[in-house]
Amino acid sequence: MPLEARTIEVPFVPGDGIGPEVMDSARRVVDAALIKTDDNGPSILWRELAAGESSFKSGGEWLPKETVETIRRAGVALKGPLSTPVGGGIRSLNVALRQMLDLYASVRPVRYFEGVPSPVRHPASVDLVIFRENTEDVYKGLEWKRGSDEARKMRDFLRDAFAIELTEDTGIGLKPISERATKRLVTAAIRHAISHERKVVTLVHKGNIMKFTEGAFRDWGYEVAEEEFSGQTVIESELMGPITDGKILINDRIADNMFQQVLTRPSEYSVLATPNLNGDYLADACAAQVGGLGFAPGANLGDDVAVFEPVHGTAPKYAGNDVANPCAIILSGAMMLQNLGFEHAAGTIVCAIEKTLGARIVTRDAALPTSASHFVGTRRFTEEVIMRL
Ligand code: NAP
Repeated sequence: MPLEARTIEVPFVPGDGIGPEVMDSARRVVDAALIKTDDNGPSILWRELAAGESSFKSGGEWLPKETVETIRRAGVALKGPLSTPVGGGIRSLNVALRQMLDLYASVRPVRYFEGVPSPVRHPASVDLVIFRENTEDVYKGLEWKRGSDEARKMRDFLRDAFAIELTEDTGIGLKPISERATKRLVTAAIRHAISHERKVVTLVHKGNIMKFTEGAFRDWGYEVAEEEFSGQTVIESELMGPITDGKILINDRIADNMFQQVLTRPSEYSVLATPNLNGDYLADACAAQVGGLGFAPGANLGDDVAVFEPVHGTAPKYAGNDVANPCAIILSGAMMLQNLGFEHAAGTIVCAIEKTLGARIVTRDAALPTSASHFVGTRRFTEEVIMRL
C-alpha cells in the first residue's frame, strides 16, 4: 500500500539491554513532537529491524543483511545499543554496521542541561561537538593474538623486512590512518563549524609519538583547512591578534593535553576532530562532565546514510527495570529530525528536555550523585518530557 504523502518510513533497531525501553521513549517523544509542532512535517512510520543478541537468540543472525540493506535504502535509522558477542564471529556489530554503510563521521555533541548534577564546577562551559573518525585506526580491527600463526608471520615479516625483533609473547596490532579518511572527517567537522557558527575546530592527535598516523592526521587536517576552506578559516600559528573577520580558528592539541583542556578551559573549544580511539575516550570523558552517558546523543554520518544512536551501551544491569535514562536516545532522535529537515520539532524536543531537567525531574542516574531521594522511572520521565513539548 503506498504511504500517505506526509508519512516517512524510518527504520529503527531497538537494540539489547536497556535499548528497547529507551527506544520506546525516543519514538514516543519524536512522534509527539511532530504532532505538536506545525512544521508541515510528516508522521513517521517506524519499521523495526532486528540486530544484536535479541535477534540471535530468536534464531536470527547477529546482524541480518536485511537490516543493513533496509537502512542503506532508507538513508536514515534510529538505533539502540547492541551488545557485542563475546568470542569469535563479528568483532563488534556497531563497528561492522558503521563500516558496511561507510558511516565515516561519528558526531557527538556534548552540552550541559541545567538541573543535572556534574562532577565539575562549571559544566555549562562545556559545549562541544566531537567529530570522531569512524572507519579506521583501531576500528580496522587489525590485530593478532599472541602465539597465533598470524602473529608469528607478522613477527617473521617485521624481522626479515625491517630488522624489528618482537618477543614470542607479543600480541600485535596495526593502526592505519589514511589521508582520504582523515580529510573527509575534517571536512565534515569544518563544514559543521561553518553551518552552526562555531568558532574553533581543534585537531586532536598524539602526533608527538606516532608521527605517520596521528601526526599525519594533524597535517592532513591543516591541509584541508588551507586547501578547501582558506577563505573561512585561519590557522592558529599564523594568527596575528584577535580574529575580527568571523573566520574559524583551526588549531591542534596533543590528546593528553586535550583531556586537561576540556576540564580546565572548556569554553575555548567548540568542535574537536579526532582519530577513532582518541575520540572514543574523549566523548565519554566529556559526557561525564555534563552528567554522564545518559545525556550523550550521537550520530554516525556517511555521504548517503545517517544512523542516530546514543553514545552509551546496553547497560545490562538496568535492563527491564524502568530506571534507564532515555535522554541520550531522545536527543539522538532530535538530531535525526534536524537531519531530516524538521528543525522545529527537533528544537521542541531539546526545549522539553531542558524544561523537564530544569524542573529537577530526573532519572536515577542523575539523582544518585546528589543523594536526592526523588527520581522517576524511564516511562514517567518520558511522559514528563512529552507534557512539556
Ligand atoms: P554502557 O552500557 O554504556 O554502561 C556503562 C555505565 O554507564 C552503566 O553501567 C551506567 O553507569 C551508565 N549508563 C549508560 N547508559 C545509561 C543510561 N541510559 N541510563 C543510566 N545509566 C547509564 O557500557 P558498557 O557497560 O561498557 O557496555 C555494555 C555493553 O554495551 C557491551 O556489550 C558493549 O559492547 C556495548 N556497547 C554498545 C554500544 C553501542 O551499541 N553503540 C556502545 C557502547 C557499548 P553506572 O553503572 O555508574 O550506573
